[in-house]
Amino acid sequence: MKTMSVRAVKGWLLITSVLAALSLFGTVETQAGKKSDQNKADCLSWCSQHKSEGCEHCYATSACGAGYEDMKKFGKTGTWYACRKNDFGKRGEQNQAACEAYCKSNPACEKCTSSKCGKGIKLLKPFIGGGKDWYACEKTNWARHSEQAHDDAVKWCTDYKKETGEDCRIVKSGQSCPNGFYKSDRITVSWGRDYKVCLISKSDTQRVKDCSGKATANIEKALDWINAHYDTLTDFRMQPNAYRDRQAHRRMNRKFPDVTVQCEDQSNKCKNNARLSGWSATARYVNLCYSHHKKFCALVGTIIHESGHNAWIDMDRSQHIGDPGAQNDTVYQFGFRAEDLCTGTNKHKTNVVPAGSRSYDFNLN
Ligand SMILES: [Zn+2]
Repeated sequence: MKTMSVRAVKGWLLITSVLAALSLFGTVETQAGKKSDQNKADCLSWCSQHKSEGCEHCYATSACGAGYEDMKKFGKTGTWYACRKNDFGKRGEQNQAACEAYCKSNPACEKCTSSKCGKGIKLLKPFIGGGKDWYACEKTNWARHSEQAHDDAVKWCTDYKKETGEDCRIVKSGQSCPNGFYKSDRITVSWGRDYKVCLISKSDTQRVKDCSGKATANIEKALDWINAHYDTLTDFRMQPNAYRDRQAHRRMNRKFPDVTVQCEDQSNKCKNNARLSGWSATARYVNLCYSHHKKFCALVGTIIHESGHNAWIDMDRSQHIGDPGAQNDTVYQFGFRAEDLCTGTNKHKTNVVPAGSRSYDFNLN
């Protein structure tokens, strides 16, 4: 009984240890399987999120299947692999290269992207298939307008520098002009990023507004010329009555140093009247149809004529209405005087200079 009992115990122990070993082995097996399942799940989840990079399926070996290559490994044991077609990368590069070549040669194209063009941006052309997809996207109106504004500012500065030899700088709107520079008065863009044009040449209170670079340069020259000849020009009877004549001179002396010459070439008033030189509307403004002037001295004449209106120089309204009508009223004579002095001729019979005097005239275009 005792012997049997010992044997029985030994046998029980053996069975128990075998079972224990088996159960331990089983646990290892189960753990490896769990790891592999987790890797597979990770792989499938990643793959579904990377379809655009070509991920098509997951595989338990790096072979990935015929025509496929592995693109990402999941886990150290029980490893799974995310797989894509094996020429996917190359095809994707081809799509990108084709898109970029297209975009370079198409002015409407802003950029190539492998994601989306973006909200409100038109897709110009897709480059898809075989590999990663690429898309050529249209320039936004904002980008297009900003580019145009930059080109305009560059052209403005180039023209201004060419005409004056003065420095001209461009800064983005919202930034200050460099030290020693002031912001010129140009027409600003209503849409898109705008640019400031900064000048150093003009510092006094006479201003030129909404004109091109070349026009600004020529109007500045005209103002300089008038300033240099101001005493000769205003040695002139502006009103028949002595008191009113003094008043007119006073107004001219007060207003002209603060004059703003504004180009109105974009306005219907200039566009619809090819012979209109300019007009005066507010006290210290000369409104100009700049492009209707072919010669520098004609420009001088217009600025003086309109400044004369600002100073209330006498005019015979009946003759002045419906320009260009009879042109023998006082304010016309004032402008003609300036023009004759500028051209060095007696073209308008003002007798301001002897025939053959120095001419300051030149062609504006
Ligand atoms: Zn007039």
